[in-house]
Amino acid sequence: MPAVLYHLQETRKFTDKRILRALATAGLFGNVVRTNASISGAEVGCQGEVGVACAMAAAAASQLFGGTLAQIEYAAEMGLEHHLGLTCDPVCGLVQIPCIERNAFAASRALDANTYANFTDGRHRVSFDRVVATMHQTGKDLPSLYKETSTGGLASNSDMDEQPGDPALRTKDLNKEH
Ligand code: SF4
Repeated sequence: MPAVLYHLQETRKFTDKRILRALATAGLFGNVVRTNASISGAEVGCQGEVGVACAMAAAAASQLFGGTLAQIEYAAEMGLEHHLGLTCDPVCGLVQIPCIERNAFAASRALDANTYANFTDGRHRVSFDRVVATMHQTGKDLPSLYKETSTGGLASNSDMDEQPGDPALRTKDLNKEH
């Protein structure tokens, strides 16, 4: 949310008042999810955290770009829909991997959802309410392995000694005799 709003204010020069109104709209969408489902990774996985944040940011962006009510709702719906099933599996129990990059990608997706929604007339098949209900059910169906316990997914498949991006390691690997 902050990244998207900060970026839009810096690049598009939206006034504080418009940013605050967009923030209020985002809050409405977040509250719908909090009331009807969950925004907790421990309850529904990352779809309820980063997915919902993406939906909120998408709604805010759509409003700033003059979206109609239907387009704003569509942008939020897409923001959440395309995170359905996203697990919470933070490596070492820390909110760093995959969390930091995941948030950055979701910020970018929120802007894409806004663009997509604003190219349409706002009509779509799946409502925001329906995707919230789906997210809730999907979260209930997820095993606890994928709900902030760091016992499954990336958390159980990561080797912190491995540094795939290290060029020296790559050279060493290439020179290995087989
Ligand atoms: S993966 Fe990270 S960002 Fe996503 S819900 Fe878990 S702790 Fe939060």
